[in-house]
Amino acid sequence: MSETETTSAAATAAPFTTRAVGAQAPDAPLAPLEIQRRAVGPKDVRIDIKFCGICHSDIHFARGEWGEIPYPAVPGHEIAGVVAEVGSDVTGFAPGDRVGVGCMVNSCRECENCQAGEEQYCLPGNTQTYGSKDRDGTITYGGYSEQVIVDQDFVLNIPDGLELDAAAPLLCAGITTYSPLRHWNAGPGKRVAVVGLGGLGHMAVKLAHAMGAEVTVLSQSLRKQEDGLRLGADAYYATGDDATFTELAGRFDLIINTVSAAIDIGRLLSLLRTDGALVNVGAPPEPLPVPAFALIPQRRSFAGSAIGGIRETQEMLDFCAEHGIAAEIEVIPAAQVNEAWERVLASDVRYRFVIDNSTL
Ligand code: NAP
Ligand code: ZN
Ligand code: ZN
Repeated sequence: MSETETTSAAATAAPFTTRAVGAQAPDAPLAPLEIQRRAVGPKDVRIDIKFCGICHSDIHFARGEWGEIPYPAVPGHEIAGVVAEVGSDVTGFAPGDRVGVGCMVNSCRECENCQAGEEQYCLPGNTQTYGSKDRDGTITYGGYSEQVIVDQDFVLNIPDGLELDAAAPLLCAGITTYSPLRHWNAGPGKRVAVVGLGGLGHMAVKLAHAMGAEVTVLSQSLRKQEDGLRLGADAYYATGDDATFTELAGRFDLIINTVSAAIDIGRLLSLLRTDGALVNVGAPPEPLPVPAFALIPQRRSFAGSAIGGIRETQEMLDFCAEHGIAAEIEVIPAAQVNEAWERVLASDVRYRFVIDNSTL
């Protein structure tokens, strides 16, 4: 503890080093390293990271699947922690506050999307929590680390009713599913299907159920059926069984596809009713071919959606606290992060790994 305090004292005035776990190359395993964090500016909040969720995006990113990235790469955008220090102009936070940071740490604030509170769609591009060029020209490092400095406008309050470890995954998996469910009006009388029961998928099930929709899970097999029903699904089908597509044809108002790999989109579209929408949040590097005649006859839509704005992220956290919703997690020490990644890749996660950052 005293070691952290020594680091803290120096942090206000000057950049400082903090422990992290990251990758040095696309094919390198994650390993401990030290990174530099900037001095705490007037509007900055310095956060002691307590927990960080492992999102499949961390893997796509660090392995260069979405394109070339700068190394070392320190992933992690499901950050939950406690405020250690605030800059002189910070009004919304004080030391000791329980806070979260998601996928963005800044944006232009001037474009029409930023003005509308949709910083995730910032037209010149927002500053991502990791792998982005920050305002000062340095590359951002994510939450697989001890501390992070974030502008107060991109820090969220974690309500008292939520445990920090189970709240961490809400900062990406939670908001990424909450936002399209709200945008496409999931609620009573609506039939929602969730494709893939992983980190995002299990949150989509819980949230859609809490919003009052009828929820169906479409998983590769029935292996996790009991869990899916316990999490709030009304029905559970295997996409590996052809009969599923016959039985559910034309059934859903909304399908949220959370799958991290390229799957048959035409087949999923056939499950939508007239005017239904298939929203892709899964982000495989490969294209997803869409047959025109899966869309045209029933005026179906195929759409995408990225996380959510800061205001909506806070709304989601408050909604979760109100409804007693958080992620189902397996907390791991930092030393097990490579193993956890392999298990995510094998769809063997129930349902989010969360790093205990005190073990870094
Ligand atoms: P995850 O925990 O690995 O879950 C993905 C699930 O997809 C798996 O559990 C599995 O579910 C299913 N799946 C995996 N491979 C499959 C395959 N080959 N065929 C069919 N189904 C397969 O991943 P996640 O963290 O939820 O992330 C999911 C995707 O969303 C990733 O691509 C990630 O980058 C992306 N993402 C996007 C956003 C955004 O803003 N749009 C935000 C966060 C993440 P079953 O075992 O149930 O079949
Ligand atoms: Zn994520
Ligand atoms: Zn903007």
